[in-house]
Order: sequence, then C-alpha cells, then structure tokens
Amino acid sequence: MKKFIYLDHAATTPVHPEVINEMLPYFTQKYGNPSSIYSIGREAHTSIENAREKIARILGASNSNEIIFTSGGTESDNLAIKGIAEAYKDKGKHIITSSIEHHAVMHTFEYLQKNGFEVTYLPVDKYGIVDIEQLKKYLRDDTTLVSVMTANNEAGTIEPIKDIGKLLKEKNIFFHTDAVQAAGSIPINVTDLSVSALSLSAHKFYGPKGIGALYLRRGVNVIPQNQGGAQERGKRAGTENTPGIIGMAKALELAYDENFEEKKQRIMNLRTKLIEGVLSSIDKSHLTGHPENRLPNNASFVFEYVEGESILLNLDLLGIAASSGSACTSGSLEPSHVLKAMGIPVEMAHGSLRMTLGTGTTEEDIDYVLEHLPAIIKKLRAMSPLNRG
Ligand code: PLP
Repeated sequence: MKKFIYLDHAATTPVHPEVINEMLPYFTQKYGNPSSIYSIGREAHTSIENAREKIARILGASNSNEIIFTSGGTESDNLAIKGIAEAYKDKGKHIITSSIEHHAVMHTFEYLQKNGFEVTYLPVDKYGIVDIEQLKKYLRDDTTLVSVMTANNEAGTIEPIKDIGKLLKEKNIFFHTDAVQAAGSIPINVTDLSVSALSLSAHKFYGPKGIGALYLRRGVNVIPQNQGGAQERGKRAGTENTPGIIGMAKALELAYDENFEEKKQRIMNLRTKLIEGVLSSIDKSHLTGHPENRLPNNASFVFEYVEGESILLNLDLLGIAASSGSACTSGSLEPSHVLKAMGIPVEMAHGSLRMTLGTGTTEEDIDYVLEHLPAIIKKLRAMSPLNRG
C-alpha cells in the first residue's frame, strides 16, 4: 500500500470512530426534527440539550444556554463579531483585533470596517504574541469589542488570553476569542479566561465538519446573522444539525478525557523531535512561532531560497500531507499575513511549511519526514535562482 503520513491536523482531523458510532443513529433512526412535537422529534431535542450541557460543562460555562450551535468556526466567528458589534453600536463603533487572525475573523472585521466601524489591528512580536501594553493604549471609551485568537493556526503561538480577558473584564469591554485551533489541544475554560464569546469547530478535534459552537456569556447580546426560525433561542435560525451536534459533544469529551495530558505529552515529544531534527539537518531553516508557548502539535518553519508550494508537492509524492501557511490561503501567491505580521521577510515567508501532528502520528512517521525533507530542500535550492547561499 502507498505510504500516507498525515501531518495537517490544523487543517482538519479524521473523525474518531467512537464519534461516528454516536452519530449514526441520528441519521437513520433518530432523525426527527428537534422542533417537532412527536416522540422522535422530542428525542432529538433532548439529545441536543444533553450535548449542549456536556459541552458547557467541559468548557466551564455556567449555563448550557450559553452554548449556541453553528455550522463551524467561520459562522461562530461571524456571529460573535458582527453580532456583538452591531448589538452595541450605539455604545461605540471602535473594535479591535490582532493582525494574525484567521480570515474568518480578519475578513469579518474588514466587512465591519467598510460598514461604519473603526478597526484597530494589534501588532504582534516576532513570535506572534500580541502586546497587552499596546492593547491598553488602543482602548477607548467607544471601544466595544476586542477579538484575539486563543492560538494561531499557522505558527501555533498561544496568546495571553487570560491576561487580556482580565483587562477587558475590568474595562467592561466584550472579548471574543477564536479557539478553533486551541480547543481539544490545550485546556480551555471560559470562566478562567474571562471571555464574553468563544468559537469552536468540531472538525479540528476529531469531530465532523460543518458543525461548531459559539460560547456566549449570559447577558451578552448578539444581533442574529440569519433570519428564519426561532432555533437556538432566536440567535441562530435553521434546523439543528443533530448528528453533528452529538458528534461534536462526543469528540470534545474524548479530547479532554482522563488521558488528555498523556496524549498531549506524546504528541509534544514527537513534535519536539521533528523540530530539532529539521533545524539541525537543514541549514537556513527557522522555526516560526514561539519556541515553547505553542500548540503541542505544531511544527512550522520557513526555509530560505525555496517555495513552500514546491516543498508540499515533493512531500506529497512521498505520501506526506502537510501545509504551507493556512489551508485557506494555499493556492494564492500572497505570502501569509501571519508571517508578515511577525516580521518575517516576504521572500522567506514564501518558503513556509507547517506540519501539524495528531493522535495517529507515530515515531516512524517523524523519522520518515526527517529522512526525506533535507534532500527535498537541497534539491529545490539547487534549482532556485534565488539561491546565492
Ligand atoms: N479559525 C481558525 C483559527 C481556523 O484555523 C479555522 C479553520 O482553519 C477557522 C476559524 C474556520 O473554521 P471552519 O473551518 O470550521 O469554518
């Protein structure tokens, strides 16, 4: 059989078999519309409410009504950002985000900017960490919302969300965090983080695609972003994705089971071996993101004098799936806005490679990458007109 090594878990993950088992009856037997009053409808409704309670408990929410089901990370981000900004626009129209957000957040801020809001973009340091002192300087009387991601999807850097949450709580400013990459990988507790809203997406933690959740603290208003039925207590119209919701709750439970620390440590050890192996065997290679304060599964680099896309194609020929920047930007010639914001020169940012490990990654997989990657980079550099090294 052809070798296949999947090192792109930040793009998406395979669905856990136990998650599929939990979901299956909701396609074939328990398929009732949760709004219907007969028994299979009520059964679906009860299962959704149980899933909501489970997710609320795992995230440390104080009430299950604080969980709103959506179609994924993108929709959760849109609902939180546009929903809060619009709900409080009479209080102020100044909103703040970081310069390294996923497009789901960044383009939502750009949309609001085109529609009468004033947006301030927070700079980051060379590791991709936002500067809280700078944030303090940007806050104004008319600032209503700040959105900073929990961990970055490209470089893996973990942001000081708890400190930002504390600051904004004192100032009475709403705080949204996109925890799409962080959920399932590092502990998340909405109370501990003092966030007003937090976005999740199941397909990043071994759940199905097309289902997500928004934690919205009780008392925080949002203007609904789609008009229709009264589902999700009027905040998100549309028939609920019952199998998806059941699957997401199971996936989150499995991610944070009693073996969480052990799983995290195993992946971190392999990740460290990969990082050290790459940096020691390939010259003019640089780790991107923070050396320690990063997601346990993220190994991301830039290589001088090579194109990220060419590395990906060569890895693919060997059966290795990886990414160059975020999955959504690959195919575009623009270098990643994240690497640019971190001060990485544009020529270097073109040579980016992100490898993200998962529960199925083995030591042999890492050995295989370390056996082949140096030769790929060497071959590409030999062909590169940019290479004067
Ligand atoms: N936010 C971050 C940080 C992400 O990495 C992604 C997906 O890559 C999203 C949001 C979008 O999530 P979804 O694919 O569920 O819409």
